[in-house]
Amino acid sequence: MSQEKEKKPAKKKPGLGTLYDYSYEKKSIKLKNRKCPRCGNIMAHHMNPSQRWTCGSCSYTDYVKA
Ligand SMILES: [Zn+2]
Repeated sequence: MSQEKEKKPAKKKPGLGTLYDYSYEKKSIKLKNRKCPRCGNIMAHHMNPSQRWTCGSCSYTDYVKA
């Protein structure tokens, strides 16, 4: 009678290079999340008094040069 068609489940391919999440706004690239090079935690972005990334886990701070 009728042949049963085997449906292959669509496999979701894991994205490569998605450690950093970029958002493109106004021709400038804003870094949303940054991982601490020391402990791997998500770092917090601070603008004042100077732009920097700070890790709340190990207190690692990376200053951004303007
Ligand atoms: Zn850290």
